[in-house]
Amino acid sequence: MAKRRAAGEFELIAAYFRPLAEGHAGALELADDAALLDVAPGRRLVVTADTIVAGVHFFPDDPPDLIARKLLRVNLSDLAAMGARPLAYLLGLALPKEAGAEWLEAFCRGLGADQEEFGLALIGGDTVATPGPTTLTLTALGEAVPGEELRRSGAKAGDLVFVSGTIGDAVLGLEARRGGLEALQGTLREHVLGRYHLPRPRLELGMRLRGVAHAALDISDGLVGDLAHVCAASGVGAVIAWPKVPLSEAARRAVEADPALVPALLAGGDDYELLFTAAAEAKEEIAALARELALPLSEVGHITEGRDVRVIDAEGCEIEVEQLGYRHF
Ligand code: ADP
Ligand code: MG
Repeated sequence: MAKRRAAGEFELIAAYFRPLAEGHAGALELADDAALLDVAPGRRLVVTADTIVAGVHFFPDDPPDLIARKLLRVNLSDLAAMGARPLAYLLGLALPKEAGAEWLEAFCRGLGADQEEFGLALIGGDTVATPGPTTLTLTALGEAVPGEELRRSGAKAGDLVFVSGTIGDAVLGLEARRGGLEALQGTLREHVLGRYHLPRPRLELGMRLRGVAHAALDISDGLVGDLAHVCAASGVGAVIAWPKVPLSEAARRAVEADPALVPALLAGGDDYELLFTAAAEAKEEIAALARELALPLSEVGHITEGRDVRVIDAEGCEIEVEQLGYRHF
């Protein structure tokens, strides 16, 4: 279920949908991870939606409970990227006739497990039949402290760039799910498959980054492509040092076996880690937060005054990362 985005998709949004958002400041010009909606003084809703399609974002024969949990988690990841706390969600299902009780039972079992884990409930939605592939939409509602949301637009030249967890596992998991990456076996293979099927929305981290991070988003498109989104929103550039990019043991082994995988790890989507920028003075505070949350927070580069995002290797040579995302249109 790669959360895929493309240049064409952004052009469509800019051309057709952005004009409809004009006049609503909380739409954030349809260019952030979620929208903000003031509901009462001091109370602000954070709203995000994602749609996934069988054969495009997930394999039709994926276990239904895993499809459901990933659908919920990719939305929770957008709430995390805003520093929001989850409240509730709505579910829109377009199901082919073949989707029987067994599929739905497993799908709802998955949702039930994750509702409990993340502390939210289903509050509405819609269910229709379709002659096309299974198409699932989830809208998540969260709450943020007004003015303290994490936005994509606050990165400043000189900021350090941090990422949570490890990078590139999910794109390896997708490759393994397709039957590739035979070099990766046993627990290492299970690790990347798990990272692909079941992302971990970094909700606690997002909330704790309020007042610390200058800009943040969740990595759904890939490290380089998503950093480019932060840079575009903030009017800055960035340099990433490949040797600083945190890799799991599985990813390290995969790259050792095939160094040509490096650009794929830098550009591959679906990790759902948080990327954020912060002042160099916040380094100690961020290290302390990493210890407290038992979650690695790695400095991978810094923000520049330019406009481009570059990746350099151990020798300072630029690594070309061509494919920044999947093209829907
Ligand atoms: P994310 O990966 O964080 O979920 P997306 O790439 O899916 O973000 O969307 C980028 C931005 O475009 C978001 O602010 C989203 O709300 C907006 N967007 C995407 N499609 C539409 C649409 N059809 N109508 C309105 N806004 C949209
Ligand atoms: Mg996002």
